[in-house]
Amino acid sequence: MSTIAAISTGMAAGGIGIVRISGENAIKIADSIFSSVSGKKIADIPGYCALYGKAVDGGDVLDTVIALLFRAPKSYTGEDVVEISCHGGLYVTKRVLRAALSAGAVPAQAGEFTKRAFLNGKMDLTGAESVMNIISAQGEEAEKIALGILEGGLFKEIKKISDKLLYDMALLSAWVDYPYEEIEELSSENLGGDIRFAVKSLEKLINNYDAGKIIIEGVDAAIVGKPNVGKSTLMNLLSGTDRSIVTEIEGTTRDIVEDTVTLGGVVLRLSDTAGVRQTDDAVESIGVERAVKRLENAQLVLAVFDASRPLSDDDRRLISLCRGKRAIGIINKTDLVKNYLTDELKDNFEKLVFISAKTGEGKDDLTNAVESVLGTANFDPGVAALINERQLGCCKDALKALNEAEDALFSGLTMDAVTVCLDSAVENLLALTGEKATESVVNEIFAHFCVGK
Ligand code: GDP
Repeated sequence: MSTIAAISTGMAAGGIGIVRISGENAIKIADSIFSSVSGKKIADIPGYCALYGKAVDGGDVLDTVIALLFRAPKSYTGEDVVEISCHGGLYVTKRVLRAALSAGAVPAQAGEFTKRAFLNGKMDLTGAESVMNIISAQGEEAEKIALGILEGGLFKEIKKISDKLLYDMALLSAWVDYPYEEIEELSSENLGGDIRFAVKSLEKLINNYDAGKIIIEGVDAAIVGKPNVGKSTLMNLLSGTDRSIVTEIEGTTRDIVEDTVTLGGVVLRLSDTAGVRQTDDAVESIGVERAVKRLENAQLVLAVFDASRPLSDDDRRLISLCRGKRAIGIINKTDLVKNYLTDELKDNFEKLVFISAKTGEGKDDLTNAVESVLGTANFDPGVAALINERQLGCCKDALKALNEAEDALFSGLTMDAVTVCLDSAVENLLALTGEKATESVVNEIFAHFCVGK
């Protein structure tokens, strides 16, 4: 296999820039572009050791650098890896990379380091997939899920199921070969019990998928309401800044203000929209139109009402726009009024929250309502979770095959029929972990990685 090289740090000026070289000639290539202060060669030092020196390209000195060696198989890729840490300027890091390429390395493809790690058995396919999630994680919970998978949480969960089924299939094939022998463990109860266990485990993973996806990806949330109900004040409360303009003049937020906040472990990409009301003002009406569009496209709507005023036609229009959406009704300015009539709102929102955006009272109730409406309240990021559609698809196909196996078992079909269904279930589980994934699936997964990872 060729020796690959790439810049593994971000493509911007930074504290350090790292050129990573991996493959059987990594040490030789690194030694040809590096000269240590001590005179030692990289080839002479043990793994996990570093040398200080200069990166060179022919007669040119490029930078003072550190060369860090990982010897196969104890490296990220499982191959010999040398990481050259330069001063973080992009130009100099690129020059060091160019020197490595002139010395015989080939440019790494997107995700190629991680792909090699997978192919060399350093991680299973779910772990490899989680690497990208770790890079892009925006919140603590999302990071926790991805790290759990990288450490083998999902792999172990799936393996527990597939090992049980593989054992049963071995018993079934022994029975097919020697039908007159008694195989004690191969009773309908035992087999049915194992299938049930597999069905339950997969159903749990599948049912948790949406909540996990919300935690990993976050949601687009729109704050909507007629002018002056306190949308901007709420936005500022949630984001902890004064980005939205708060005034008593109606129609002040004429376009959309955006910010990202974390509420109850969920990242909300919040947009504070123009007040939704009937208006003759041309500029304001463009803002209103955009607000309505935002509402329609949002994955979560925070519909704000003013506790100090009776519901108006604009409020009622908003209520009807929220129908069929995942929406929370927020009754704001509770510091002004204690007894607010909520029947009309109660009938129209799955969750109602009383809040004073000005004092912050009720913010915890809003957090709970968000978790409850998004279904993330009971989600435990510490347990195994599926993180993408590919994994979900494999689980669903395996579950379908297991349901068919159960039907075949209890409707008195031959054991051959049960075996065929179990075989299909196991195939899907092995595809999920990568133990039996096709080359095109593997290529497709790594094509979405960044270069250098
Ligand atoms: P928006 O037009 O819906 O964005 O409303 P703003 O956030 O600009 O608020 C309009 C007015 O209501 C401002 O004077 C705010 O200070 C006031 N306001 C907002 N929230 C509260 C609240 O919880 N209590 C009280 N008493 N006033 C509030």
